[in-house]
Amino acid sequence: MTRPSDEGRLDGPAQDAPDSGRGGSGRGVEPEMDPQSAVLGVADLTRTFGEIVAVDGASLAVEAGELRAVIGPNGAGKTTLFNCVMGALAPTAGSVYLNGRDITDDPEERRPHLGMARSFQSNLLFGDQSVLENVRLVVQTARKGAFSLDLFRPHHDVGRDRAAAIAETVGLDADLGTEAKNLSHGDQRRLGIAMALATEPDVLLLDEPTSGMSPGATAQTAQLIQDIRDDRGLTVVLVEHDMDVVLSISDRVTVLDRGQVIATAPPAEVQNDQAVQDAYLGGMREEL
Ligand code: ATP
Repeated sequence: MTRPSDEGRLDGPAQDAPDSGRGGSGRGVEPEMDPQSAVLGVADLTRTFGEIVAVDGASLAVEAGELRAVIGPNGAGKTTLFNCVMGALAPTAGSVYLNGRDITDDPEERRPHLGMARSFQSNLLFGDQSVLENVRLVVQTARKGAFSLDLFRPHHDVGRDRAAAIAETVGLDADLGTEAKNLSHGDQRRLGIAMALATEPDVLLLDEPTSGMSPGATAQTAQLIQDIRDDRGLTVVLVEHDMDVVLSISDRVTVLDRGQVIATAPPAEVQNDQAVQDAYLGGMREEL
């Protein structure tokens, strides 16, 4: 039930023997645990847009403390899957589990309270507020407390130390007083991660955390993600295009192609997987 099939999707034999070793096309799908037993589980998730099947029966079982990357050629369904997991989109079919609880129908705004957070996008930062205040506002409304309309009351000390510590975690300690709008693109992304951390998540979801960054900032962010996982024992799932980042920091990589999971394996195995190579080459052929 947990392992999706990609029968008939790619050239070569159907993937039907996930644990029988490598060598043929599509041997990279490892048997995953039951999604209901995982920290983050996705079971047979499908999302259609009219005739388009953006995600087609995808399953994932991300284990505690795992750093999982989701990759795939353009249009493979990564963003749609991510949005379904985060609750921004409702799946057409299938389920999402967090710590064994079915959260498929829980609204997006409730998920941080359940232990799932995504990096805050730049447009959700309070541009005129300082780095410290941005993080502090999230600390104040964090998962264990109820969201409160007291948010903008002058309780500036509430959560201040904790907010400063979190900002330090992401390397923004020298910018605590800087208004968010004046941060560099890379620092705004780091602030977005800090704000997600302020909700005390069990699972942190990162949507292309290095997009638009210089090579130096990309390397720094990759290291930051690894440190967050190592230091906090967080479970991290990232959608990422930068293969160097994916291959260097992930424990396992899930590859989507045309909405289906065609491989889930450690980076080195995925890199050499014939079905994965075919999927990426297929995408390039379509572009020619
Ligand atoms: P990319 O790497 O290019 O961002 P992706 O892997 O994130 O792609 P998605 O953006 O999830 O892929 O798109 C998967 C498929 O679903 C594509 O064919 C896309 O055109 C289609 N799609 C996504 N969102 C919508 C939408 N809101 N309405 C219609 N079709 C959509």
